[in-house]
Amino acid sequence: MTKIGLEIHGYLNTREKLFCKCKAMHGKKHIKPNTSICPICTSQPGAKPMLPNKESTDMVIQTSLILGCKINEKLIWQRKHYDWPDLPKGYQNTISGSYAMPVGKNGKFLGIKITECHIEEDPASWNPKTGEIDYNKSGSPLIEIVTEPDFKDSEQVIEWLKQLKATLSYIKSIDKTSGIKADINISTTGKRIEIKNINSLKNIKSAIEYEIKRQKKEIPKMQETRMFDENKEITIKMRTKEETEDYRFITEPDLPIIKIERLRVDKLEGNLPETPHEKLRKLIKKHKIEKQHAEILTKKLEIVEFFEKVIKKIKPKLAIHWITIELLRVLNYTKKEMEEVNIDPYHFIELMDLVDAGKITELKAKEILNEFIPKSFSPKKRVQKHSKISKADIIEIYVKQAIKENTKAAEDYKSGKNESLNFLIGQVMRITDKRADFKTVRKVLEKILK
Ligand SMILES: [Zn+2]
Repeated sequence: MTKIGLEIHGYLNTREKLFCKCKAMHGKKHIKPNTSICPICTSQPGAKPMLPNKESTDMVIQTSLILGCKINEKLIWQRKHYDWPDLPKGYQNTISGSYAMPVGKNGKFLGIKITECHIEEDPASWNPKTGEIDYNKSGSPLIEIVTEPDFKDSEQVIEWLKQLKATLSYIKSIDKTSGIKADINISTTGKRIEIKNINSLKNIKSAIEYEIKRQKKEIPKMQETRMFDENKEITIKMRTKEETEDYRFITEPDLPIIKIERLRVDKLEGNLPETPHEKLRKLIKKHKIEKQHAEILTKKLEIVEFFEKVIKKIKPKLAIHWITIELLRVLNYTKKEMEEVNIDPYHFIELMDLVDAGKITELKAKEILNEFIPKSFSPKKRVQKHSKISKADIIEIYVKQAIKENTKAAEDYKSGKNESLNFLIGQVMRITDKRADFKTVRKVLEKILK
């Protein structure tokens, strides 16, 4: 029977690195090498780590909670030793390892058991061809999520990873721009095989499918670590279990044991948003939204939260159309994410009310929605500005103004020059920006000049 387990790695979406105050740079493109560094993240002699950045610990706790894990009370940092040019201090600080307690353990997410979640620092990047080392990413916080071997095939893995990504995007704990990487372990009939460091859903799928087929032909007799060659779409042997490196884990003497107070965990738990799965269920059950629409809405937290605000005031059916089709169209066209623009739900509700009451055409509403980017405004005020003026008492004000500004034309009309009336009507239309009702203007003028 095929059993597949995952170790998923991603960058935590923090502003700063894990043990110093340098800006976290992972995922940012075209940054000059070695511009976000300090003695700590370049491992200068004598430099000791600062306490781990609170934002990172909070994010890994929240991620663990959303995956149903129990949170450990203590974080004990370890040194994982290895020698590589990207790691001049000779060890990586991590919560994983032989004696480690993970941040969270024994969770379950959409039917798959979570073994543990932990956190570690990223090494620098090393170019083996030139020997150059860039420390910009050195010390960035990484999260690792380890599952039990509960998956049966590649499709189940991919579907689950998609859900995981969508869920974690709700709490914004993982940096989207750098994506996730995974180590995959697969056993079919023989020993367990691990495939290291695969970086996209497409490659994860290909690697699993290739490996399952391969293991049918050559049953693994020994535990083995392999890598995936994405050009040839095959896995290649790296080492067997016997050759596995000994990382000589020890507890980090430069960092204290970090105690995680129950109150802190409760507070973080209280602030968790509903997961996409919970939101989807609520939309279908409580608001009677069709599944296909609910799925579109729940893809992004900002969109579904916007929808939830809007349907407090307007019919869900109208909101679905205007959000899943029109709003997403405008965002897509302007290449903006919902969180990058400033659309007030009350302005959107006003717009929907105007369409629903037939006060503006759908075409006009679309035009206004286009103008909502990057910042919305009250469409009611906008529409009023363009609406017709037909009340005689209001028109009278403009008529008096026109007469005052054109006394000669008024006198001419009084002395029998009828065409002067048309001139005066034209003046009222000019003053009111063509919004006054023509017939009423004529009547009011005739009355006043009688
Ligand atoms: Zn630094």
